[in-house]
Amino acid sequence: MKWFQKKNPDNLTPDGSPLSGQVHRVESPHTTTDDLLQRIESAGLPANILGTARDEYERLAKVDKSSPEYAIGYNYLEFILSLPWNISTKDVLDLQRAEDVLNTRHYGLGPVKERILEFLAVKNLHSRFQTKILLVDDELIARENLSLVFEREGFVVTTASNGLEGVTIMEQDPADIVVTDLKMECMDGLQLLEELRRRWPDTGVIMLTGYATVKTAVTAMRKGADQYLSKPVNLTKLRKYVLEILQNKQRTRALRGPVLCFTGPPGTGKTSIGHAIAEAMGRKFFRLSMAGLRDEAELRGHRRTYVGAMPGRILQGIQKAGVRNPVIMLDEMDKIIQDFQGDATSVLLELLDPEQNAFFSDHYLGLPFDLSGVLFIATANVVEHLPAPLRDRMEEIEFTSYTHKEKQEIATRFLIPNQLSRHGLKIDEVTILPEAVRSLIIDYTRESGLRGLEKQVASLCRKLARQILTDDETFVARVVNGADIPEIMGSPPHFTTTAQSTSKVGLATGLVWTEVGGEIIFVEAARMRGSKQLILTGSLGEVLRESAQTALSYIRSHAEQFGISPDFFESSDIHVHIPAGAVTKEGPSAGVTIAIALLSLLTGRPVHQNMAFTGEISLLGEILPVGGIREKIMAAARAGIRVIVLPEKCASAVRDLEVDVLEDMDIRLVSELEDAMKLALL
Ligand code: ADP
Repeated sequence: MKWFQKKNPDNLTPDGSPLSGQVHRVESPHTTTDDLLQRIESAGLPANILGTARDEYERLAKVDKSSPEYAIGYNYLEFILSLPWNISTKDVLDLQRAEDVLNTRHYGLGPVKERILEFLAVKNLHSRFQTKILLVDDELIARENLSLVFEREGFVVTTASNGLEGVTIMEQDPADIVVTDLKMECMDGLQLLEELRRRWPDTGVIMLTGYATVKTAVTAMRKGADQYLSKPVNLTKLRKYVLEILQNKQRTRALRGPVLCFTGPPGTGKTSIGHAIAEAMGRKFFRLSMAGLRDEAELRGHRRTYVGAMPGRILQGIQKAGVRNPVIMLDEMDKIIQDFQGDATSVLLELLDPEQNAFFSDHYLGLPFDLSGVLFIATANVVEHLPAPLRDRMEEIEFTSYTHKEKQEIATRFLIPNQLSRHGLKIDEVTILPEAVRSLIIDYTRESGLRGLEKQVASLCRKLARQILTDDETFVARVVNGADIPEIMGSPPHFTTTAQSTSKVGLATGLVWTEVGGEIIFVEAARMRGSKQLILTGSLGEVLRESAQTALSYIRSHAEQFGISPDFFESSDIHVHIPAGAVTKEGPSAGVTIAIALLSLLTGRPVHQNMAFTGEISLLGEILPVGGIREKIMAAARAGIRVIVLPEKCASAVRDLEVDVLEDMDIRLVSELEDAMKLALL
């Protein structure tokens, strides 16, 4: 019964309204069951669902209305009726419109938008893909009549008067669906069917047969025909069969389109661009937060064996959206995997694979629901945390940190106007000058994305709203400049990740990559009398510990070269600490920083405080390349560090960076620890 204890089910819907009340409606036992039957019959349910609903209804009609069993059965039927089995929105695949929507909602993000537009273009082409039908019949009149019908519906039609001719046409231009008569000269329908199944197994085949040959038609079905119809042809039925075959084909085609996965630090626009995509395509949108998901039942629901069982969040979302083809954003997918009861990967694979999700099974519903029309978009902060089979299914699109300039633009064009109107302020009542925005960005936030900035702008708006109301009646438009900010907002918060103001022996600044973007870290080294121990503290992961050991071994083996007494370790212990012990640190890229802190300690020369390092170190003193260069440089810039020492082999990564990122930065490339030391020590 976890569902009822859950404190926060509301992350399910765009408007934040909980869904549970809607799903688990306990009806008055006196509700008439006749109404229900009528609704079941007229709901246009798919045939297999209708059958189950009727059975369930019949069972219910025999149950005492005041019993809990009645309520359970009643609510189940209500749930079936409330699902959008056949309702979908029509996709708008106008690329120009999509581009306009993306541009009006989001500044920058050029490569991301490009990729999204390409994705929509491919979808557009798929939808335009015209279906080809081949009609094979020896009666000219039958061919002509059917041609007319299908051409009117927008299909491309070719015709043949017998099986052999049909095969020749297939060889030249294969059709998607073949509608064939049974009895023909040269090659009859059954022979054609065998040939089609052997050479074009994906082609849909519908057999037309005279009354006397029903038996043969059954044989045809056994041999792999998709449907058969007796003559004279019932056009409505034929059309229905063609559409069914087509739907299955489209499903397979959709298989080839990958699921998009937006990756990057928080606040870089992943969720909001998902919204924009839905808007651009004219689809409904809902977000499903994966963070904190604990077991499979949350996604798939509970079995209907006890009072209080509920559908899973996926179907609840579909019910709420009211269409079977919304955009569903699986947010923070990398946060679900740990501690999940049941196999999260298999549920997610089922969800994202169009071949399987056409028959998605929810434990509560107990019937397959077709999710193949849904456009899934996943997001993850650290895509490496996702299991490989899932990553293979998805196409990753990387969202990177914003530069100061980008933040300034986004704040001016989007965040400030939005927040002003949310706080009941008019654009002409308040002007926030560029230097005030800059102060908010630089002094009040330290982040890769925009969440903190958005909060600061909201806080500024609240304070301005209050001032405007409490001030005198004579209203004057406010102009907020840079100097006003500390006065209104209070003094800037203290950030621990700011460059050290003085240089110290045994202290070096490093650059690392974390899920919230780049970060700076401080590596401290101390030496005391002892017995050759290397003490490592600060919640360091295995790889980081090994980096520290490698750095120490290299220095010990080359002590003289660095002007250090070769037996410095004989009667000492060395302690390396990376503060913020509550945060686990991992990865090899702090190797150089640790080595520099040790060299500083052992030579007694302090490290330049305005300098930061990143790079892996080898046992021979080589500096090896590392990733996340853009994020690391921006983290240094945010912390006020200007000189960055990087591995030589990262030169091409640096060359690819935008001018804005490198502005005011002094990048030094090194390949040996010795060179790094020359730059680093005072
Ligand atoms: P994420 O999902 O990556 O954590 P969000 O989509 O929640 O980030 O974005 C946080 C806020 O920043 C939202 O209000 C969003 O509209 C805004 N935002 C992010 N990127 C941009 C951008 N490029 N242009 C305009 N607004 C943006």
